[in-house]
Amino acid sequence: MTDTVSDPLTAESVAGAAYIVAALLFILSLAGLSRHEKARAGVIYGISGMVVALAATIWLTLQNAWGSSQVLTGLILLVAAVLVGAAIGLWRARVVQMTGMPELIALLHSFVGLAAVLVGWNGHLESPELPDALKAIHHAEVFIGVFIGAVTFTGSIVAYLKLSARMKSSPLMLPGKNAINLGALVVFVVLTVWYVNDSQLWLLIVVTILALGLGWHLVASIGGGDMPVVVSMLNSYSGWAAAAAGFLLNNDLLIITGALVGSSGAYLSYIMCKAMNRSFISVIAGGFGIAAPASKGDTDQGEHREITAEATAEMLANASSVVITPGYGMAVAQAQYPVAELAHQLREKGVNVRFGIHPVAGRLPGHMNVLLAEAKVPYDIVMEMDEINDDLGETSVVLVIGANDTVNPAAAEDPGSPIAGMPVLKVWEAENVVVFKRSMAAGYAGVQNPLFFRDNSQMLFGDAKQRVEDILRAF
Ligand code: NDP
Repeated sequence: MTDTVSDPLTAESVAGAAYIVAALLFILSLAGLSRHEKARAGVIYGISGMVVALAATIWLTLQNAWGSSQVLTGLILLVAAVLVGAAIGLWRARVVQMTGMPELIALLHSFVGLAAVLVGWNGHLESPELPDALKAIHHAEVFIGVFIGAVTFTGSIVAYLKLSARMKSSPLMLPGKNAINLGALVVFVVLTVWYVNDSQLWLLIVVTILALGLGWHLVASIGGGDMPVVVSMLNSYSGWAAAAAGFLLNNDLLIITGALVGSSGAYLSYIMCKAMNRSFISVIAGGFGIAAPASKGDTDQGEHREITAEATAEMLANASSVVITPGYGMAVAQAQYPVAELAHQLREKGVNVRFGIHPVAGRLPGHMNVLLAEAKVPYDIVMEMDEINDDLGETSVVLVIGANDTVNPAAAEDPGSPIAGMPVLKVWEAENVVVFKRSMAAGYAGVQNPLFFRDNSQMLFGDAKQRVEDILRAF
């Protein structure tokens, strides 16, 4: 180590420069991830930014501690934490199924929340010597950081439990739920003012418990169909929690990164609310203003009809246009490869084949696009819901592959339905609809689907991958 580098001022400015490079790489990463052609480059920018950020932070920490008696302990703890974290992260990322990604992401958000709570608590227990004016700011940072972090922590755990079906996806409807949420916010504001003036430990304990309860209640109150917005909203909260930790740790990069995640997550939530015809304010306020659904659509719908794979193959061979609308079941069955092959073979026969993608199909924004890109379906036949909806009336056959809520006519026709008002793919307007699923079970939102009982609909029961392969064999 040279003298110049061990000078803390120089060390900080070098790290500061590295932080700017990392921040730019993160911005490039976000720009790349917004278009699938550039998504791979976006991921590489993100990884590079994280490597630069980690290296600069570790280096700066060592420079600042150099010469102190605790540097060796610090170094060992740091290396151990990075190794354990990296090993668990690599293992989970390698074994996770595509269908398990949403819950993994929800769980990762909870870690960011927990980290912000711990950093906040540390900020209280190891409060630095500061002039009075700065003290108030420090106290506000601790209190707000702990609050956002704890809301993110329990909110993400509930999202994880709901997404992994360990908890019911229907909304928790406590009496006076809006008053509970508003009351908790008012108590938080009062406690913040109190803590800024008099930083007592018990106030921090109370706000931590309050925020843990609020996070749990906010997400538990949101129903199945609105979960996509909740996931991106928690993504945004985890960004703000990281930014709050950045203020406390005096780390500019954490502030920038947190703000990038926070604002991009908020914007994604806004776009998804618009796509699902939901009020942004209502969703972030834990389903504020949403009444308990009047119906679950489980009234008697009549009889459904079944079709075989052979008969479906014949219907497809005679069709002039086919639209495939995939959903979560395609991801579960890993049916994207035979589906891509089916589209290819039909196109070779001169059939006009397109895919119709609902913005919340699957369990992640862009879930279906990723699967279809993986199976090398050409981008130009993959249409967004708004691009394809008007053409469905003139389509000979629609193949609904493991989709349910996203093709449910109740959303458009039953004002009492829990998914009322959510725009859906109007597949029922096509001449013929074939629904691929294993049973008559409801979709994620737990709502029965009248589509299955329409005169022009037929059910092709079984695992979607096997049934599509049966059709390919029948050709
Ligand atoms: P749904 O979850 O509504 O339905 C999927 C259907 O797939 C089920 O009805 C199931 O029926 C069927 N299925 C499951 N496994 C198989 C299989 N192996 N073969 C054939 N079929 C199968 O799917 P959608 O994509 O239409 O809707 C997504 C839902 O998830 C929406 O409610 C959305 O709000 C929610 N959500 C979306 C998120 C996102 O970001 N995209 C995040 C969180 C929630 P059966 O069991 O009978 O086979």
